[in-house]
Amino acid sequence: METIISVTNVTKIYESVEEDAPALKDITLSIGKGESVAIMGKSGSGKSTLMHILATLDRPTSGDLVVAGTNTKKLSSGELDNLRNKKFGFVFQQFFLNARNTCLENVILPLIIMGVSPAERGARGQAALAMVGLADKATQAAGDLSGGQKQRLCIARALITEPELIFADEPTGNLDSENGRRVIDLLFSLQKEKGITVVIVTHDVDIASLCDRVITVKDGQIASNATDRSDS
Ligand code: ADP
Ligand code: MG
Repeated sequence: METIISVTNVTKIYESVEEDAPALKDITLSIGKGESVAIMGKSGSGKSTLMHILATLDRPTSGDLVVAGTNTKKLSSGELDNLRNKKFGFVFQQFFLNARNTCLENVILPLIIMGVSPAERGARGQAALAMVGLADKATQAAGDLSGGQKQRLCIARALITEPELIFADEPTGNLDSENGRRVIDLLFSLQKEKGITVVIVTHDVDIASLCDRVITVKDGQIASNATDRSDS
């Protein structure tokens, strides 16, 4: 399997922390193109820190991060922003939507930042809304949606740049189980139908068991890193 991201001997120390206790210690792992990976572990174990480093949202204190063959150490922050915007989409536990803006306006925001023309933005926005089952909500205020619909709107916004990989940090954390399941089904269908790599930080064993691989983090280290499929 082709590798999309790999980290080698990565350590992260938050300098604001008094004893400088590392949040991540000597992490080495790689993620294959098209794979679905769950990152599990107790609260405070380092899941979000690991995701932020894999996603180039934060730089490691030491060690290497290679994204699609490029060692990110060599990149300026502007180059890193470009790489991230081109390759990655993000879904978080908090929705980060503009409640007063319409669903379409929320979804096309990344395209405005990229300088895509208004006509193309509209068409791509409608297509992204359709992909998550919200085609009829384009002109409705995002704040009027239910929690599950809001998270699907966030997925549409993540999809609009046609990312190769979606990072989802506890995407069902604010949803009831039925809506959570719908969001997860949507992420897996994107993996299967579009070949998008999916990395999900989750507390939920049921979600993790649906992934091709489960990485468990404990005290900033990898406690296990295994395929979790009865059929493999
Ligand atoms: P998880 O997502 O598994 O709950 P985190 O990656 O958020 O864990 O946190 C791992 C450790 O790093 C924790 O001890 C946490 O307090 C610390 N930490 C996380 N973010 C920061 C930060 N921005 N500054 C200082 N310490 C942080
Ligand atoms: Mg976290």
